[in-house]
Formats: sequence, structure tokens, C-alpha cells
Amino acid sequence: MKNVLIRYGELTLKGNNRNTFISKLIQNIKFKLKKYKEIIVYKKDHNNLVLEIKEQSKLDEICSILQNIFGIYSLSIVEIVEKNEEIILNKTLEICKNHLGTFKVEVERKDKGFAINSQELKTKIAVNILKNNQNIKVDVHNPELKLTVIIKHNGAFIFTSRISALKGLPVGVSSKGLSLLSGGIDSPVASYLTLKRGMQVDFLHFMTPPHTSKEALDKVFKLASKIEKYNQANFSLYVCDFSMILKELMHIKEESYRITIMRRIFIRIANKLSNIIGAQAIITGESLGQVASQTIESIHVINQVSDLPILRPVLTYDKEEIIEISKKIDTYETSILPFDDVCSMYVPKNPVTKPKTFIAIKQEESLLLDEMIEYTVKNLIKIYIWREGELVEK
Ligand code: ATP
Ligand code: MG
Repeated sequence: MKNVLIRYGELTLKGNNRNTFISKLIQNIKFKLKKYKEIIVYKKDHNNLVLEIKEQSKLDEICSILQNIFGIYSLSIVEIVEKNEEIILNKTLEICKNHLGTFKVEVERKDKGFAINSQELKTKIAVNILKNNQNIKVDVHNPELKLTVIIKHNGAFIFTSRISALKGLPVGVSSKGLSLLSGGIDSPVASYLTLKRGMQVDFLHFMTPPHTSKEALDKVFKLASKIEKYNQANFSLYVCDFSMILKELMHIKEESYRITIMRRIFIRIANKLSNIIGAQAIITGESLGQVASQTIESIHVINQVSDLPILRPVLTYDKEEIIEISKKIDTYETSILPFDDVCSMYVPKNPVTKPKTFIAIKQEESLLLDEMIEYTVKNLIKIYIWREGELVEK
């Protein structure tokens, strides 16, 4: 029977946190593989997790889900047999019987109680294969087939491939963040990179009906749903109606500050919502210098209104690098669909590139900020939860 061997990756280095990390990873794996729960037996050992798959035809599907779970370093499909010389020789031969071309055998003896040492066993396995398959020859440097046998306490593990996985840390070990998700290219990538370091994300989107269409919102749904495969359990998408505030912002005298002030309000609302939902960071897709409003001066003025840290995972990325990731995570095609978002319809002719906090504060004095924010957070948020494969309204 074939099993999946899961290697833990970076979390093996994490001293005391190790057990918490492993439990979280296993919990995440179980969640993502929920629909297969009848056919999987989980076996945890010291450095790895082994999934015994009772229905072999589901192996590929299961592996492709596992490849998208953060915290997994790599996978191998393994045969686990009894630690008995004859059985190991038979099984390794069976695997290589029909192989044409070059091969190499590697043996690792973790269980030192096993009578044959690794060098000896390696020779026996290779000789047995060469004797029984005339079409195969050894190449220790660049083999087409690498057969690995690991003698562990609980059996002999035999495999021929290592499938590389996402690496990173299990989602949830770094608490939760609130990601400001627009319909663009950058914020889905920023969310993905945050998840990579183990932070679960919920999403907040600002819309301004009727200026922004239903299609624009659909696009955000789609993006959140695409990121779902990397996210943990049941995330939420909060949709905030920003129309009233936007109307107010049109009255700001210093037109060039509109974007700056809009961003400061985004962040204030995000802070309020984070307190309610227990998020400990705010995430944006800002990239240094990408547009006029993303200068270091602008970042500074925006940061002033936030109690929580604002994470900007793509700050140092070139657009091309961001696009590359968005293609990899399959959000690119959705992101480039042409629907208006709040910003694109609202950009002043000459947005300030080096805003000053005191001017922003001065401009904000003419607005009933606290009241508007309070009202917006309380009344205008729609909440969608990811449940059984779709986003449903709460
Ligand atoms: P993106 O590609 O993510 O839209 P962008 O380069 O277009 O980013 P901006 O539109 O200036 O940049 O927005 C910067 C960041 O502000 C976005 O990455 C996102 O995190 C946040 N943001 C912008 N518009 C919205 C919105 N309507 N709802 C939620 N967050 C938003
Ligand atoms: Mg945008």
C-alpha cells in the first residue's frame, strides 16, 4: 500500500514551539483533507507525518492539496514494509523491475538496531536489481531513478521521488491579520505572502456603490476564494460600504490630499474592525514608489493613525515580481479584469507625493471623522464566511 510521507520543513528548527507548530500543521492538513477523512489514517512520528491512504486512486488529488499547505517542506509517496531483508529486496525490485535507464540506491539506517548496515544493504539492493533487470544500470551522479530506503523504527520506508511543497509556516501559528483586499494585483499577493509566514488572514474590502459595480465585488469574492486554498479554516471577508465617507471626502479643500486621507480612513476602519475580530496586524499591497501615494512619506503619514502594525509584504517587490507570484497563485487573470475600484475613480489630478501629517490632520478637521467611522463600522459591513466551498453571507 502506498502512503504519503510529509516532511515538516522549517518548523523542525523551532525549539519549544515545535509541538505547537506540528499540531497546527496537522490540524490544517486534516481540515483541507476533510472530505477524505474516511480513507486516511494519520500516523505521526518524530520528524514526519505519514498518511496511510486506503483508496489509492485518490493519491494524486490528495498530494496536490498537500502541495498547497504552508508548513510542508516536501512529500514522498512511500511504500512502508516490514524491516526484513528479503521483503525489502523484493519490494525494491518490484519498484525498479520495469525501469529502463540509470538508477541509484540510497539507504539510511535510522534504526541502528537493524542488523545490516546501510552500505551493505545498499549493495544488496542494487545487485538484486541489476541481476533481475537487464535494462538498467547504475549512475551515482545523475541517475534517472533514485531509489531511497530509510530504515526507521516503525518500518522500512521506500520511495523514488520527492515532491517539493510550499514550505513556509503553518497558517495560524502567527495569529491573525486583516488584509485590505482591493481588486488589484498586489493585495492578493500580499495576503498570500502573509499566509506563508503562518498568519491567518481575514479580508476587508471597501466598495462605493453605485460607483463600483456588482462585478467589481464579484471580482473580490473570486480573489478571496482563490486564496482560500492557502488560508486556514473558515476565513471571513468583510465588505464595507465607503460611499458616505467618499462623498464627504470630496469636500476636502486640499484635493491633492484626498488619497492620503482616504487611506488614513481605511486604516482607522481596519483598526476598529481588527479589535472586534481579534486581528493583530493590517496587511496592504503597497509597494514602495509604485505610485505617487506609495512613497515613504506617504507610508509614514498613513502609519500615524494605526495602533496595529501595518504589514506590507510586497513593499520591496518590483511589479514584475508581484505579477509572477500572482500568476503562480492563479489570481492574476482575475486581478486584471477591468472593473473600477474606489481608488481608480477617485484619484486627484496631482496626488501629493510627500504628504505632511499636520496638513492631513488639518484637512481632516473639516470632517466628522469619528462619527462617520463609527457609523460605517457598525452599520455598513456585510460579512461573508467561507463555508463548504463558497462565500456565504453571515
Ligand atoms: P492593488 O493592486 O492591491 O489594488 P495598487 O497598486 O492598485 O494595489 P492602490 O490602489 O494604491 O495600489 O492600493 C494600495 C493598497 O490599499 C492595496 O494593495 C490594498 O491593500 C489597499 N486598498 C486599495 N483599495 C482598496 C479597496 N477598495 N478595498 C480594500 N483595500 C484597498
Ligand atoms: Mg488598486
